[in-house]
Amino acid sequence: MTSQERFVQLDERLAAIASRVAPLALASSFGAEDMVLLDVVARLGLPIEVFSLDTGRLPSETYDLMQQVRDRYPTVAVRYYYPEAAALEAWVTRHGVNAFYDSIELRKSCCAIRKIVPLQRALAGKQGWITGLRREQSPTRQDLAEESHDADHGLLKFNPLLEWSDSDVWTYIKGHDVPVNALHAQHYPSIGCAPCTRAITVGEDLRAGRWWWENPETKECGLHVAATPIPLKRI
Ligand code: SF4
Repeated sequence: MTSQERFVQLDERLAAIASRVAPLALASSFGAEDMVLLDVVARLGLPIEVFSLDTGRLPSETYDLMQQVRDRYPTVAVRYYYPEAAALEAWVTRHGVNAFYDSIELRKSCCAIRKIVPLQRALAGKQGWITGLRREQSPTRQDLAEESHDADHGLLKFNPLLEWSDSDVWTYIKGHDVPVNALHAQHYPSIGCAPCTRAITVGEDLRAGRWWWENPETKECGLHVAATPIPLKRI
């Protein structure tokens, strides 16, 4: 399938999903894939809420893009979700502000407070959510489906870019003049929190720069794998 055929298919798919599932949300971390989806939502005027999780540790380039998006897409009101203050204060006080480097458990509990719990709030009451996950991004994304039932959050999950290549994404971005995170030009294909993301080198996996000190099989934050909600008291 050519890139142009994929673009037409994406418009049709998102419009079809929006016509049968409501309320529906698009999760955006302002990565290249998320920007493609946001552009389609804005261009077609689809009734899809765009939301983002501000972990408090994002790179300044991501905040710059958030501001840019407001100007470029005035019809899209991105909704932001933040970590619960008391849980975050308790974690940082007990473990230290950068304790996510100390163990996988602490890294995961930081992700739980800053991402997973806010995601649960973002998805509450929704019938479906859309992500920009692509199969070729990493070993942890090989078994995903374009549409599935997300049992953890109790709603449908759509990955309409699943079979897109990196080239499809960037052809769309250039062809539609979509704003992107400045870090992409500095060899950051996947961008998360600043202290947990680094640039990659030629030949590395596209998500090699995320939690680079862990092995590839553990490198998800819990947003996109089966995850049991963690009670705040245990974090
Ligand atoms: S990516 Fe790093 S800083 Fe961000 S929530 Fe996860 S562990 Fe914490």
